Amino acid sequence: MGVGSKALVELVSRMPETVIWRFARRYIAGLDIQDALNVREELYGLGMLNTMDILGEDVMDTNQIDETFSLYHSLVEKMYASKIPGNISVKLTQLGLKADPDNLESRVRTLAELAGTHNILVRIDMEDATTTSFTLKLYDALRQDLPRIGTVVQAYMKRSKTDVLKLTEKENTNIRICKGIYKESPDIALQKRGEIRDNFMNLLRILLDRNAYPAIATHDPVLVKQSLEEIKRRGLTPDKYEFQMLHGVGFNMRKMLLDGNHPLRIYIPFGSAWRAYSLRRFRENPKLAFYVLKNLISSG
Ligand SMILES: Cc1cc2nc3c(=O)[nH]c(=O)nc-3n(C[C@H](O)[C@H](O)[C@H](O)COP(=O)(O)OP(=O)(O)OC[C@H]3O[C@@H](n4cnc5c(N)ncnc54)[C@H](O)[C@@H]3O)c2cc1C
Repeated sequence: MGVGSKALVELVSRMPETVIWRFARRYIAGLDIQDALNVREELYGLGMLNTMDILGEDVMDTNQIDETFSLYHSLVEKMYASKIPGNISVKLTQLGLKADPDNLESRVRTLAELAGTHNILVRIDMEDATTTSFTLKLYDALRQDLPRIGTVVQAYMKRSKTDVLKLTEKENTNIRICKGIYKESPDIALQKRGEIRDNFMNLLRILLDRNAYPAIATHDPVLVKQSLEEIKRRGLTPDKYEFQMLHGVGFNMRKMLLDGNHPLRIYIPFGSAWRAYSLRRFRENPKLAFYVLKNLISSG
C-alpha cells in the first residue's frame, strides 16, 4: 500500500463509527445472529453455500471468550433449526489462544462435536504467523476423531507447501487455500503477487493430487480461471472442491461460477466486533476508504 493510501486509510479509521458503518455494512451481515441468518437464507436462495463467522480476534478478556463460545453454540443450533446447510469459521485467538490457552482445545472440540452432530463443518481460520504451527497442530489432533473439521493455509507463507504435504499424509484433509491477509516478513512470506499466485496453484495441485478437499478462497480472476482449468483438466466432479468468497465481494465471478455449476460458499461475518474487520477491508482495498471520504464530503 502506497504512502497516500496508507494516510487515507488512517484518516478514515479515525472517523465516527456511523460513517464507517455505512460502508462496512456491505461486508458485514449485521450485528446479531438473526441478521446473519437472513443473509445466509438469501444467499442460499441464490444457490450459494455459506460459512458463518462471528467477528473478533485477539480477545484477551475471558468473559468475552465465554460469550463468543456460547454465541457460537446458539448459532450452530439456529443454523440446524433453519434446515439450511452451512459451515462455521472460527478464529483461535477469539476462543482463547492468547488469553486462556489451557481451555482452547476443549472449547474447539466441544463446538466441533456439537456442529458435527448437525453436519456442520467447523473451519479453523488461519491468523498471523505466530499462530500457524499451533493452528495446524490443533487441526491435526481434532480431525483424528472429528471428521467435520477443516483449516486454512496461506499461499504467501513459504512453509505452506511443507505443511500441506504433511497434512495430506493422512486422509480426510479439508483445507481452504487463500493468499493470506496479515503483514508478514519477507523471511517467511512471499511478497510478490506472481509468486503468491504460483504458490496458490501449487498448493491446490498438491491437495488435488493427494485426494484432499480444497476450498479455493479467492476473488482474483487469474486464480479463479487457473483453478477452473485445473478442475476441468482433471475432470473433477463438484463434490471434490468448492470456491469461497467473502460476503460483499466478487459479484461478477460469483455468477460465472454458479452458471458453471461450481459450488460456491460465501464467508458471512457478523457481530459487534465489525469495526476492526472493516478497517482491514479498507486496508486491503484503499479505494473503499476513498469512497468513504468522497461520500462524506458530498453528503456534508
Ligand atoms: C472465504 C475466504 C476466507 C478467508 N480466510 C482467510 C484466513 O483464514 N486467513 C487469512 O489470512 N486470509 C483469509 N482470507 C483472505 C485472503 O487471504 C486474501 O487476503 C483476500 O481474499 C484477498 O485476496 P484475493 O485472492 O481475493 O486476491 P486479490 O488480488 O487481493 O483480490 C482480487 C480482487 O478482489 C477484490 N477484493 C479482494 N478482497 C477484497 C476485500 N476484502 N474487500 C474488497 N474487495 C476485495 C478486489 O477488487 C481485488 O482487486 C480469506 C478470503 C476468503 C475469500
